[in-house]
Amino acid sequence: MSRPEPGASPLCRLPLEDDHFHDQCGLFGIFGHPEAAHLAYMGLYALQHRGQESAGIAASDGKRIRLEKGMGLVNDVFTEERLDSLAGDRAIGHVRYSTSGDTVASNAQPYLIECHRGPIAIGHNGNLVNATILRHELEAAGSIFQSTSDTEVILHLYARSHRERLEDAIAASLYKVMGAFSLVFLTPDALVAARDPWGFRPLVLGRLGGAAVVASETCALDLIDAEYVRDVEPGEVLVADADGVRSFKPFPPEPTAHCVFEHVYFARPDSLVFGRNVLDSRLRLGRQLAIEAPADVDVVCPIPDSGMGAALGFARESGIPFEWGLIRNHYVGRTFIQPRQGQRSVGVKIKLNPVRQVIEGRRVVLIDDSIVRGTTSRKIVHMMREAGAREVHMRISSPPTTGPCYYGIDTPLKSELIASSHSVEEIRRFIEADSLAYLSHEGLLKAVGDDADRRHCTACFSGRYPVAVTVPDESQLRLFEKARA
Ligand code: SF4
Repeated sequence: MSRPEPGASPLCRLPLEDDHFHDQCGLFGIFGHPEAAHLAYMGLYALQHRGQESAGIAASDGKRIRLEKGMGLVNDVFTEERLDSLAGDRAIGHVRYSTSGDTVASNAQPYLIECHRGPIAIGHNGNLVNATILRHELEAAGSIFQSTSDTEVILHLYARSHRERLEDAIAASLYKVMGAFSLVFLTPDALVAARDPWGFRPLVLGRLGGAAVVASETCALDLIDAEYVRDVEPGEVLVADADGVRSFKPFPPEPTAHCVFEHVYFARPDSLVFGRNVLDSRLRLGRQLAIEAPADVDVVCPIPDSGMGAALGFARESGIPFEWGLIRNHYVGRTFIQPRQGQRSVGVKIKLNPVRQVIEGRRVVLIDDSIVRGTTSRKIVHMMREAGAREVHMRISSPPTTGPCYYGIDTPLKSELIASSHSVEEIRRFIEADSLAYLSHEGLLKAVGDDADRRHCTACFSGRYPVAVTVPDESQLRLFEKARA
């Protein structure tokens, strides 16, 4: 590669700044519909927010399984011809934002293997905390892995199972893994969906005429006019085949640990997640925030899109007008070509632009879902002041994020999380806001309806990890290397 002339445009592609935890994957599965692959494509479209690095669909006509997948958005990966090649009335689909494993094509899912049981495809949302140990054991016993993903471990365990029935072999392999998994499997004869006993990641069951449908979120059911039946329960394995849909619970029950961040940020606001509408949760988070941390200001502004629901709730509870003080450009990708050296903050400016007419001379409270590193918040506060805001206050609709996630969310290392080593006052000074307040842990749980029947994981806020991590930081280190690459 030639080096750029001094002062000339280096034309290097840089990641756009995005100071958020990132969702992991989206799943879709359907059995018993002649347009299975096309419906999977639509389902993945609705789930695109859960993963933008790769997309794939495996479909079967009852004899063989065909697979099409690639890097990029659903729209980039699939053409009419590729979809038409996926014949059959059963299919599974996957969109991915890499968690464990590298950002390479070999990690795009679904995976399709051929073993002594015949072909099987798999799509995984979540992260296994004992994958490294299992992988070493399997490699020592002769297994050869094709990817760096934890999901492949499940396929090797499945291939080694001596159980006869499909669902028994799948259950036996899942019995050995620990951590977060919502899964879809496809064989020529059946669609199988499974969820870990803690229910970390969402998975719902729907119906479209006589076809069974599963998806990460109900927004995928809505797009194909499927009816929401219920959540796939924590610890449940569902099998859809020519005999209909049957369910069993092969794992010992555990207290639920639904990822609370699905309600705070990840899931689409129009979805039902863990039995609750996500927009309703966000409105409640904002209302609770206004009760706990009021602000004496003229206007409530969301940081779009992540702070929208909470800002609306904050405005309704406080009686302070809600206005669009920042506008987001929705037509940017995840990277940009840097125009000139020295314009380091351009990433935030490409995405967000303040509306001077709304904020000039006014006291503004900005609402966001979280602060991860703090660098983006600092730039946004600066932009608001440059655009004439008299005061800039910040309110966050979740507690300080003090720890990484090991259950399938892309997070930086603990040392990169500003709240892991700084007090709220120190963070306020760093982002240069006039005031800063976070929602309390109790307020968070109250807003999402946490109760004895529906417990949530809050580990990245509280440090209380529901499933012990056997090799801490292994997957985290990989993510960190990826982020730095
Ligand atoms: Fe969700 Fe945080 Fe728990 Fe991960 S650690 S599952 S992001 S609540």
